[in-house]
Amino acid sequence: MKENKLDLNSGWEFAPAPESTAHIQLKKKYDLFIGGKWVKPKSGKYFKTVNPSNEEVLAEVAEANEKDVDLAVKAARKAYNEVWSKLSGKERGKYIYRIARLIQERAREFAVIESLDGGKPIRESRDVDVPLAAAHFFYYAGWADKLEYAFPNRKPKSLGVAAQITPWNFPMLMVAWKIAPALAAGNTVVLKPAETTPLTALKLAELIQDAGLPDGVVNIVTGYGQTGAMMVEHPDIDKVAFTGSTGVGKIIMKAIAGTSKKSTMELGGKAANIIFEDAPLDQAVEGVINGIFFNQGHVCCAGSRLFIQESVYDVVMRKLKDRMSNLVVGDPLDKNTDVGAINSKKQLDIINNYIKVGKDEGAEFYQPTCSTPKKGYWCKPTLFTNVAQSSRLAQEEIFGPVLAIQTFRTVDEVIAKANNTPYGLSAGVWSDKGSKVFNLTSKLKAGVVWANTYNKFDPTSPFGGYKESGHGREGGVQGLEPYVKFN
Ligand code: NAP
Ligand code: MG
Repeated sequence: MKENKLDLNSGWEFAPAPESTAHIQLKKKYDLFIGGKWVKPKSGKYFKTVNPSNEEVLAEVAEANEKDVDLAVKAARKAYNEVWSKLSGKERGKYIYRIARLIQERAREFAVIESLDGGKPIRESRDVDVPLAAAHFFYYAGWADKLEYAFPNRKPKSLGVAAQITPWNFPMLMVAWKIAPALAAGNTVVLKPAETTPLTALKLAELIQDAGLPDGVVNIVTGYGQTGAMMVEHPDIDKVAFTGSTGVGKIIMKAIAGTSKKSTMELGGKAANIIFEDAPLDQAVEGVINGIFFNQGHVCCAGSRLFIQESVYDVVMRKLKDRMSNLVVGDPLDKNTDVGAINSKKQLDIINNYIKVGKDEGAEFYQPTCSTPKKGYWCKPTLFTNVAQSSRLAQEEIFGPVLAIQTFRTVDEVIAKANNTPYGLSAGVWSDKGSKVFNLTSKLKAGVVWANTYNKFDPTSPFGGYKESGHGREGGVQGLEPYVKFN
């Protein structure tokens, strides 16, 4: 073991501290979870899910075709008609509480599987994804018997069957965001996790069996994008809840146009993190690092654009580069790791292409000198400075650890620049002055604006976008509304 070095520019080294995988149980092959049972796919097909940090196959997973999707929707409809819509809110709440408690009991197993399948650091899955997933189930369990108080004098009724489609960046958490409010409001569910990260959703299916949830209330089907499209187009669903890219969101909105299907779209983002000269700079730099590099920038609300007030530009850049040189990039299961593996080869190619675009456009490129493992998919934390407002780096969602940095002089200038993207999911403001913060929070067109912090989530707080970042809210009492109707 080498001693910790104090020279900030050469980085610190820690002894390896890998989380054990001895306590996790994964099957070699996963079927579809339909009607409370594991059923073989009619397609007869399976695909592999790999560990992106070493390219090893973790399991084979069923690929659902149209017949499988139809069986899942039928199971959900039957459960809705015969059981779930007839239960009292109090009874539904008991099941949801039970799921929440079981997630807490098996939190470690879920966290390790999340990091194995998706590449995110264990510190993130252990401290953020899994506890927040449990918290969402606890929170919405509490609403199940209080819907009339959530919507006073409006007589809320459930919708029926919800088709829910989730992305690969927060696999378990997004599943919780979808299932918990749907069940609390009295709906049943067919859910499809992303192709590269299906394992925690399938584990949750096992847990749902253990919780004794009535058969068919939650159905989990796996597959590629086409499986999601089949769910969206199925005539017997009442609601589509989608989290993913703006491109796919647009395809889904076209597919359901003219139908009575309700929708919630949680789509992409290009958040601005804004540092004013009066900000606590060390705290701001830490927030920037957290906002774009932890989780490899695989965050819809990642602070992927940084605006620094000109007078503090040099000092912020020096602090940022110092901090970057100390980031630990590597094994997602190591508790010291800050930056894990990129989720897939496909995503790595997309990120590398953006890095090439940035260089070709003439922006200045910086990466720390850290090493990355030989196998697996890796991208070092990356900065671009001198980025033009019209640059693709400043306009398009990269979904990787790549930060585009610009400067500003006045408040009006930074508001105009920050709002100048097709997206509007989140933003961050760093300033010592409350009045400045409140001025910006009302003028930035973003669903969430964090002040002197970043990437903070709570089940009681609604989350969602403006413009091409989507519509509808998840979380909070607002997150119940997309799952009820009033007449
Ligand atoms: P994606 O490619 O849009 O995929 C999302 C999900 O949709 C996956 O399960 C995918 O299946 C499925 N899908 C693909 N094509 C489909 C189609 N034609 N019809 C129905 N479903 C289809 O997004 P991603 O790359 O997984 O996730 C990254 C994106 O999610 C980013 O843009 C990020 O900003 C966004 N995101 C937004 C939020 C938010 O709350 N606003 C949160 C997290 C992520 P396969 O994966 O199997 O192809
Ligand atoms: Mg995987």
